Amino acid sequence: MSIKTKLSAIIFGSVSLILALNLTLNLQTTRSNLREESVNNMKMTARQIAVAVEQSSYSSNYVQQQIAQNLRLAAILASEELDPDYRNVNNQQLRSLAARLGVSNISLLVKTEDDVVVARSSDPNELGLSTKGWGYWYVAFLELFAGQRVSVKQGQTMEHFWSGPFEYSTSNPQFIEKWGYYYDSSTNYIIDPYIRSSAISDYVKIMNPDEIVRQSRDVNPELLEITGINPRTFGSSTMQADGSDSINQKLRNQPVQYGTYIFGNVEEDKSAVMTALARQEPVTLDTEARGKRVLKTFIPIQQPWADDYVISVVMDYSAISTVIRDELINNITTSILLLILFLILSYVLAGLVTRPIQDILAKVNDVARGVFEPPLHVKSRDELGQLSHRVNAMTSNLLQHTNRLNQTLEENRAVKEHLESVINGTSDAIHTVDMEGRITSTNRAFEKLYGWSAKDVLTKTPYLVPATVQKQEDARLRELRDGVVLPPVETIRLKRDGSIVEVSVSTSIIRDEEGKPKAFVHVSRDMTERNRIEELLRRSEKLTTVGQLAAGVAHEIRNPLTTLRGFLQLQREKQLLIPLHVDLMLSELDRINMIVSEFLILAKPQAVHFQLKDVRYILQDVVSLLSSQSHLFGIEFNAHYSEAPATVHCEENQLKQVFINILKNAIEAMPSGGTIQVVQEVRDDAVVIAISDEGEGIPEDMLPKLGEPFFTNKETGTGLGLMVSQRIIQAHKGSLEIKSEYRNGTEVTITLPSADETEAG
Ligand code: ADP
Ligand code: MG
Repeated sequence: MSIKTKLSAIIFGSVSLILALNLTLNLQTTRSNLREESVNNMKMTARQIAVAVEQSSYSSNYVQQQIAQNLRLAAILASEELDPDYRNVNNQQLRSLAARLGVSNISLLVKTEDDVVVARSSDPNELGLSTKGWGYWYVAFLELFAGQRVSVKQGQTMEHFWSGPFEYSTSNPQFIEKWGYYYDSSTNYIIDPYIRSSAISDYVKIMNPDEIVRQSRDVNPELLEITGINPRTFGSSTMQADGSDSINQKLRNQPVQYGTYIFGNVEEDKSAVMTALARQEPVTLDTEARGKRVLKTFIPIQQPWADDYVISVVMDYSAISTVIRDELINNITTSILLLILFLILSYVLAGLVTRPIQDILAKVNDVARGVFEPPLHVKSRDELGQLSHRVNAMTSNLLQHTNRLNQTLEENRAVKEHLESVINGTSDAIHTVDMEGRITSTNRAFEKLYGWSAKDVLTKTPYLVPATVQKQEDARLRELRDGVVLPPVETIRLKRDGSIVEVSVSTSIIRDEEGKPKAFVHVSRDMTERNRIEELLRRSEKLTTVGQLAAGVAHEIRNPLTTLRGFLQLQREKQLLIPLHVDLMLSELDRINMIVSEFLILAKPQAVHFQLKDVRYILQDVVSLLSSQSHLFGIEFNAHYSEAPATVHCEENQLKQVFINILKNAIEAMPSGGTIQVVQEVRDDAVVIAISDEGEGIPEDMLPKLGEPFFTNKETGTGLGLMVSQRIIQAHKGSLEIKSEYRNGTEVTITLPSADETEAG
């Protein structure tokens, strides 16, 4: 994810969060506001209804007052016309009087012992009615009979008169009637004129709060129901669920005074009504009615001339939820629009903020690809500006370094090419071998020498080291690994075709920075040709030696021959065979035979054939071969041989030639005679032969040149002797050391490895 995306995601995320929060809060507020508003609305409606009902009551009161006055006048007129004793009044008389006075009917109420009953009436239905159970009406009657002013607060009280409030006709509840009751103690009865007219019914109907309720509901359709509740009878045992009551059906005591009672729950509502009255403040229920969620508010209403009552208003909750839903949809729509706006805005904004970062990134990518130009254009001075500056500085540094690096690389390549051409051009075979023994590189001479092409060795590692020298090779590699610097070794290797090649191998080790061995570099030089020349040289040297020895040999042979001749002559003259002489002659012949055969061994070129031989006998042979000759020059041999066997793996003739060369040099170094010490010892794993003379010695500056071919200071010298000897000793894995003191003598020490009997063969 890019920074830009992240940044815009952050902005977008925060805005979404804020909007979501806002939405939730808004919804919450809306809900509680709406609820409050609804409750207020219900209260208001209830109050309006209460006021309207009150007003209608006022006007109703006024009308009732007028009617009451008329009824009083009618009653006074009637009292003047009627007999003071009711028993003298008949119903017919009352009927005509009522018609004359303009009232519907006139009844006369008489006080009995414990009741007030209708004794005479123009309406036969009224006759004999008991009023004891009429509540305050009965109270008013008793007060009238007692000559008191009526104290009942309902209806209208005047002098000797009381008129009850509008009430249904006792005989026919369809009609509303208004009664007046007059008693001035001039009669023994209360005169009770009353009016029943459709006009009153219509009036009452018009002034009926039901009408007001209907109108209110027209205006507020979400108001499901408005009910005027009479707390005194509401919830009584006789009240039905719909609010009707068979007992309390008078206007004054109906549980439901006006409106309907459909959305009711009597128990719940009753307790709410009581609470509202007790606290004198509205109570709201959030409840369910007729399968709907509704809000019910019970508002207590105080009336100055009558008892308090309660208006209940039921409101459909869906009205609120609809508004909330609408609000929610509105809010969500706005939020989504805002979000889209912010998404675009945040993307643009993030783009603005991250452009420098992207520029830097692009620059860094360029640099990573090796494109250094042009530098970043720095616009701002903020952190990003500083970063750009640093990137520019870094880039220019990098450019410099890269240039330098390229230059060095070019130089290195040139050096490498040169080295490669040298390596490939050299006549020595070079190959590197890793620590697992795999050949990792070769040069051209390698293929020429061993027959393996560079490609072949990489696919298949060839065996170059023959089994016979494997041990030696392993030891060398081990020493190299241990840090020993080794001189070249003359050994043999296997070619691809299986043939053996004589080589001089110089091996060095390559290590990594930590000094851990990484590879071996082997430089092999083909020695076949050189060895051939050397062999030639050796042979020519041998011939020279033989030539030189020949004189000595002749002399050696001549002496015994002279002896033989003398003995033979003597025998011919004496014709006698003396056994002592024969023995002497045989010994002389043996000696001659020995000298000749030794000489032949030297002269005859022999196949190189290593065998296990005891050095003691070889040395003895040579010493005895040379000692007689050296006697001529006054030279003595002083030889010591070890008692232990001194077996070495050697080519006998070659060793003999070495000893002859060394001894001859010693003899030649002592023209005026002296002693030659020959000491042969067995030391550890080696056989050591030290040959020392008392000759002229070798000047110091000449010592390093010894062994160089044809280096000689003798007139008839070849300068090959030491060289050949050294080669032979090397071939025997031994060493040849020369120590010399000028004018004091020379000591040559030859060390040969003792033959391991087990590997002999
Ligand atoms: P050559 O004997 O034919 O000269 P060598 O290789 O045998 O060749 O010896 C080389 C030279 O080393 C000799 O010419 C001589 O100067 C010196 N040299 C060798 N051995 C001795 C020795 N024992 N005492 C003094 N000089 C010696
Ligand atoms: Mg010599």
